Amino acid sequence: MDIFDITIVGGGPTGLFASFYSGMREMKTKILEALPELGGQLTVLYPEKYIYDVAGYPKVLAKDLVAGLAEQADKFQPALHVNERALKLIRQEDGFMTIETDKGSHQTKAVLITAGVGAFSPNKLGVPNEDRYHGKGLTYFVKDKSAFRGKKVLIVGGGDSAVDWALGLKDLASKVTLIHRRDAFRAHERSVTELLSSDIDVKLFYELKEIRGEDQVQKAVAFDNRTNEEVSLNVDAILINVGFRADMGPISGWGLDLDGRRIKVNQRMETSIPGIYAAGDIASPAGLEKLNLIAIGFAQAAIAVNYAKKFLDPSSSVYPGHSSDKKF
Ligand SMILES: Cc1cc2nc3c(=O)[nH]c(=O)nc-3n(C[C@H](O)[C@H](O)[C@H](O)COP(=O)(O)OP(=O)(O)OC[C@H]3O[C@@H](n4cnc5c(N)ncnc54)[C@H](O)[C@@H]3O)c2cc1C
Repeated sequence: MDIFDITIVGGGPTGLFASFYSGMREMKTKILEALPELGGQLTVLYPEKYIYDVAGYPKVLAKDLVAGLAEQADKFQPALHVNERALKLIRQEDGFMTIETDKGSHQTKAVLITAGVGAFSPNKLGVPNEDRYHGKGLTYFVKDKSAFRGKKVLIVGGGDSAVDWALGLKDLASKVTLIHRRDAFRAHERSVTELLSSDIDVKLFYELKEIRGEDQVQKAVAFDNRTNEEVSLNVDAILINVGFRADMGPISGWGLDLDGRRIKVNQRMETSIPGIYAAGDIASPAGLEKLNLIAIGFAQAAIAVNYAKKFLDPSSSVYPGHSSDKKF
């Protein structure tokens, strides 16, 4: 099995920037990301929102920042394992570590945990046949907008994701219907105004009751939760956007000193286990208040990687020199 210098657990903004940085420091790098897509909270929770406090960008859409980070990380071609959740960490006698995932195992000399608020899993609605149609027209994520081209799409939910995707797909899909169980949205006011004045068929106080179809989604039955009146909708895609659960899960059992749901680190981003570092939202640096910001994660990623470099090669300098002096 290939042994990597550093394995980064979590492909959010912190992990992606860390991956670029460890590549720049000539470390053989692997990223493990539980979700099918990179970008962490930016991708899952607010892809279509602007971010105003990332240095160098007066304003940038979350999804565009993720695309830039992924492109920057790709410069050094890290081994990228998406859809793969880190479950167990085993410290070997030879000093190397093995991370076991739901897909296999990975050997590494150092680990950087950038798992944010934990691995996300989408909330399910709990309607009959939901699992049966998952991947057969029913989805919880938009991996590729073009998959909805010309389709009759039903979106379930009233938060930012549901509203943003309704607006994002309306020009691509042949029809978009959005059902929401209440009349109040948990989404940007401006987006809700746009939604309600668009040609999207918005059904308030409606909930999904049943999904029908041979091998693929063909119909959805929804009901008005005030009157129980049912409507049958011809649809070929259902996007369920009713929130996500974040779960630090297995990482809390890796034997690291914890501060609630975060991992204690010192100023060098070292955890209580040598060779294991943490950065970003999951890290709790001694003496620092909780500062869950992208900018903080970037800085912590650089600190962690530079100290990991020194850990792996004591003859190297912690200070990397200027990137502008390097020839990539
Ligand atoms: C609505 C909203 C708006 C925000 N706006 C701003 C803003 O304007 N400016 C700002 O600076 N910050 C903002 N933030 C905060 C910012 O998004 C976070 O600080 C940032 O995402 C933290 O990045 P991260 O990489 O540390 O963690 P995350 O973004 O949470 O990424 C962690 C990744 O690790 C993965 N992961 C977790 N566990 C495992 C595992 N066991 N195996 C494999 N992968 C795993 C997760 O799937 C996830 O992709 C906002 C947050 C929210 C919710």
